[in-house]
Amino acid sequence: MRVIFLGPPGAGKGTQAKRIMDACAIPQLSTGDMLRSAVAAKTAVGVRAKEVMDSGALVSDDIVNQIVSDRIDMDDCKSGFILDGFPRTVPQAEALTNILREKGLDLTAVIELRVDEDALVERMRSRVAETIANGGVVRSDDNPEAFRTRLHEYREKTAPLSEYYAKTGELKTVDGMADMDAVTASIRKVLRLD
Ligand code: AMP
Repeated sequence: MRVIFLGPPGAGKGTQAKRIMDACAIPQLSTGDMLRSAVAAKTAVGVRAKEVMDSGALVSDDIVNQIVSDRIDMDDCKSGFILDGFPRTVPQAEALTNILREKGLDLTAVIELRVDEDALVERMRSRVAETIANGGVVRSDDNPEAFRTRLHEYREKTAPLSEYYAKTGELKTVDGMADMDAVTASIRKVLRLD
C-alpha cells in the first residue's frame, strides 16, 4: 500500500500516518522528520535546510525529491509506505509521479485531511503545551510567526495538490475535524482496512 497524506500544518497527518503505519506495518516517510534528523546531524542537506525550516518556508524541491526517492529504495518500503508532508508543491507531485513510474510503483490513495483553518493555530499551541508537559523539545518552527508562514506556504503551494490529485482520480477527502479515533476510522474505511 502506498499512500499520501495531504493537509495543512496541524491537520493531524503525522498522528494519523503513525496509526496507519502501525496497522499496516509499513513505514511513515515524513520529509519533515527526515530533514530534522539531517539538521540535528549537521549533514550538508541539514545545514542548507535549517534556516529555511526555522522560518516556516519550504526547502527546495530538488532536496526533498532526492531524499524521498532514496528512501523509497530502502528495503522496509518494499510492502509500501505512507508519505507524510510530501509532496508539498505541484513540481514535487510531478517528480513523485515520475519517481514512482521509474520504479514501477503506483499509488493506492491520496488522503486529504480537511480541517477548519481557524482551529490550526490552537492545535499548534496545544501541541507545544503537550510537548513541554511531557518534557520534550518544542519544534523550532512551532511558534506563531513561523506557523503563519507555514500556513501561507500551504495555501499558496500545497493546497493546489488537491486539484492535482482530484484530476488523477486518486484523491479521497476525510473530515479532519472529527475526534482522532473517528478520523482514523474514516481513513481505514477509505483504505478498506476493515
Ligand atoms: P513538517 O514536519 O512536515 O511540518 O515539515 C517541517 C518543515 O520541513 C517544513 O516547514 C519545511 O520547511 C520542511 N519540509 C518538510 N517537508 C517538505 C517538503 N515536502 N518540501 C519542502 N519543505 C519541506
